[in-house]
Amino acid sequence: MKPPTTTMEVCQAFPCAPLCPLWLKICLLLPLTIALTNTVACGKGTSADATTVSAAPKSESPAATSAPSPAAPPDSAPFPHIDSKRAFRYTREVTAFGPRYMGSENHKKLERYILDHLKGDRVEDDAFTADTVEGKFPVRNIIAKFPGTKDGIIVILGHYDTNYPLRNTGYVGANDGGSSTAILLEYANQLRGKKRDGYSVWLVWTDGEEAVQKWSDTDSLYGARHLAEKWDKNGTLKKIKALMVMDMIGDADLNIDRNTNGAPWLLDLIYAAAERGGCQSHFYARQGPIEDDHIPFVKRGVPSADVIDLDYGYNNVFHHTPQDTMDKLSPKSLEIVGDTILETIHMLDQR
Ligand SMILES: [Zn+2]
Repeated sequence: MKPPTTTMEVCQAFPCAPLCPLWLKICLLLPLTIALTNTVACGKGTSADATTVSAAPKSESPAATSAPSPAAPPDSAPFPHIDSKRAFRYTREVTAFGPRYMGSENHKKLERYILDHLKGDRVEDDAFTADTVEGKFPVRNIIAKFPGTKDGIIVILGHYDTNYPLRNTGYVGANDGGSSTAILLEYANQLRGKKRDGYSVWLVWTDGEEAVQKWSDTDSLYGARHLAEKWDKNGTLKKIKALMVMDMIGDADLNIDRNTNGAPWLLDLIYAAAERGGCQSHFYARQGPIEDDHIPFVKRGVPSADVIDLDYGYNNVFHHTPQDTMDKLSPKSLEIVGDTILETIHMLDQR
């Protein structure tokens, strides 16, 4: 997949690293000095130490200038916190199933594991058969719905399948597949109980995110493409206020990229949430177009963002290799991303 030409022109003015030949060319942009000088970890409920950093790369995106109200709304509520130890345990348990590629026994075990954690919640399936270059596969998106008082839906997606071409290499996808599955399970814990005072939140464990052979428009994002089409037809898409994809968020060396094919105002809102928690140094040191589960929704006009760290090991060396294992991950990273996106949801409620 080719990144948009216009973006690549921008990239060519800077050192451009084709980190993943199939689905990413991301550019190292200038704010390296910011990343080096600002190493504040996530604060606990105060943004007092966050206000000194003003040089966020968000202003470098031309589209950001036309974004509707990118500034953070005032928020007096305490900064939310997930249980990161529990989220990390989920990641470990999910990874322990082994390879979880489409059609595998371990995939079925993981489906049961996810559903076991959602007992008592409102859960729906989006199941179908994908016709791929490697044959037919059962695909199953799992959707948990948590109702709110406001009219509209915030959707959080994370894929739970692991890479198919690497199925016989010992690849277990701790970060790529494991961390996304786990953070959504933890979000279910956070959302469960009383009706939300805000938008409804739908959590979607997407299936078939990975290509079965070589990434292309037709060999990738099987579950997300199916769901976007379905929700387009039944009118659901029109109700979605924001959609965020969580992917590869567990790297101990956390650097969330600014995915330039997302909605600029939503990307800015996530940054504002990170600032509120004092953990903005982990966000947006790099920016570039990234293909992930948000793309089928972006194509249909849904305001979307991809929350992803595609600098997994030096030059992304652990990505899509058997090196993607638990020892590279940290509960702190799950906490930083988990808290920030929870705060983003809270800020969206107030818009
Ligand atoms: Zn992957």
